[in-house]
Amino acid sequence: MPRTDVYDLGSLRLSAGEARRLELEVAQEPLELAGTRYEVLPATVPVTLEVSRTTGGGYALRLKLEATVEGPCMRCLEPAAPAVELDAREVQLPGGGEELESPYVDGELLDLRSWVHDAVALAVPDQVLCDPGCLGLCPICAVPLALAGADHHHESGPDPRWAKLRDLHLD
Ligand SMILES: [Zn+2]
Ligand SMILES: [Zn+2]
Repeated sequence: MPRTDVYDLGSLRLSAGEARRLELEVAQEPLELAGTRYEVLPATVPVTLEVSRTTGGGYALRLKLEATVEGPCMRCLEPAAPAVELDAREVQLPGGGEELESPYVDGELLDLRSWVHDAVALAVPDQVLCDPGCLGLCPICAVPLALAGADHHHESGPDPRWAKLRDLHLD
């Protein structure tokens, strides 16, 4: 299947009320989240695009895809790869004002690549985690708590400087 970055909606020759479901492939770009680069895979992702022709020469568009975001867990820095399931909609009604004009449609041309990129960025969980219950890092020694095990702890004994002072008094 050829990769589609820009799709010509006019080529479908739909009249008002008609709709078409298309299976396409679109290139995905890495995301930058909190200053860290995350890969979005697969690099070429299969998408389902539903195109409905509205009255007034407009389009109602629906985009579905599944992707994986790969990068460091935001809590413990171990590798994370949460799945993203996307179901996005756009409406393009020429002359309908900002609310009804899609930033991804120019005339009959749909900028599918930009739409996929922005929609994935919106769908990515705010927290990219290795596991939804990631315990993060030990606040004392910074070891990932998931790897360190449940019995990981530190003796919270008296401050060693005070112990030293007591020794001096004993002498
Ligand atoms: Zn984690
Ligand atoms: Zn520790």
